[in-house]
Amino acid sequence: MSNQNPVFIPGPTNIPDRLRLAMHTQTSDHRAPDFVEVFSPILEDTKKVFGTTSGKVILYPATGTGGWEAAMSNLLAPGDKILVGRFGTFSERWVDLCERHGLDVHVIDVEWGRGSPADQFAEILAADKNHEYKAVLATHCETATGVQSDVAAVRRGMDASKHPAMLFVDCVSSLASMEFKMDEWGVDAAISGSQKGFMLMTGMAILCVSEKALEKIEGANLPRTYFDFRDMLRANAAGGFPYTPPLQLIFGLGESLKMLFEEGLDNVYARHYRLAEGVRKAITDGWGFELVAKTPELASDTVSAIYVPDGKDSNELTEHAYNTYGVSFGIGLGQLNGKAFRIGHLGSLTDVMVLSGLATIEMAMADLDYPIKLGSGVSAAQEYYRTSARKALKSAA
Ligand SMILES: *Cc1c(COP(=O)(O)O)cnc(C)c1O
Repeated sequence: MSNQNPVFIPGPTNIPDRLRLAMHTQTSDHRAPDFVEVFSPILEDTKKVFGTTSGKVILYPATGTGGWEAAMSNLLAPGDKILVGRFGTFSERWVDLCERHGLDVHVIDVEWGRGSPADQFAEILAADKNHEYKAVLATHCETATGVQSDVAAVRRGMDASKHPAMLFVDCVSSLASMEFKMDEWGVDAAISGSQKGFMLMTGMAILCVSEKALEKIEGANLPRTYFDFRDMLRANAAGGFPYTPPLQLIFGLGESLKMLFEEGLDNVYARHYRLAEGVRKAITDGWGFELVAKTPELASDTVSAIYVPDGKDSNELTEHAYNTYGVSFGIGLGQLNGKAFRIGHLGSLTDVMVLSGLATIEMAMADLDYPIKLGSGVSAAQEYYRTSARKALKSAA
């Protein structure tokens, strides 16, 4: 029965039955005309989630990591200078990927618990009179620390110095859960995946690329074949794929978009904020613990990373929760291993499901003699969920 419990890891996320059914289909012919009819509107509708009208959505059978590789290899050349902040395991891995691709990576190390250093970026770009930097990289939600970056502030800094560098954003653990404004923020490449906010199985990288970025393709000459945007866009324009498309994931994406639009994107974002606030009330007001995110504005609405008290091992806590109660929480990654655990609160979740996760981790903490009062986190969250504005499930009539 333990497999009936929701997971509280920040991806892959819980798959609603409706999406499991949408992906449970017999093979069909991806060259048949009915695939074209299904596929093209999905590409078009995905743009709404990215917040763009002019960008191009590109899908690959891959994960978010493949999405990074696609963006880098299509839009940059060997030795190109790029600017990036490193403040968690995911921004660290992105840096590593860029270095292994032979890019000249200027890394700004930021204390974990903070986000993209918009002001430092702005200073560096203002001093770069010859426009040597070709791209700035930002991680919208750093999943290891539960920190959200202010992408609009990064863009303002770039604009203030009138710098033409492209802006690449990793939105793997934020897209379809937190508002994303590709056009307004002037994002040139946004990289996401199927298994987080879209609530699907893992296996599809979901990207969106600006018109400005697409103009760079010919000059960018990092090696690429499988990920060549040109092949993909040519095939997509004709309603198809340059190789066999992951049909079931594409059908799943179509249904996921329907679910998101039925709820309303604004309501989806409001729900994630509310779920996150309840978790944060449990952490700070209920248990008296500290978030890894240094300030409330930095706290992500999709995942919370929580320091355990000194002398406690967060790995023991997450293992105990899994072994005893059959519920998964995120472990501390990188320098936070053993020191913090994470609660993923994105995707297919309700207040009630989140309360069950809080109740479970509380039991695990009580079993391991944590200095908390059983029920303290749950009641702090209950009080918030009970009184905070929410969309009525049923009208009073
Ligand atoms: C999950 C995630 C990724 C990509 O991971 P994959 O396992 O390759 O899908 C990248 N960046 C962030 C911020 C993530 O949360």
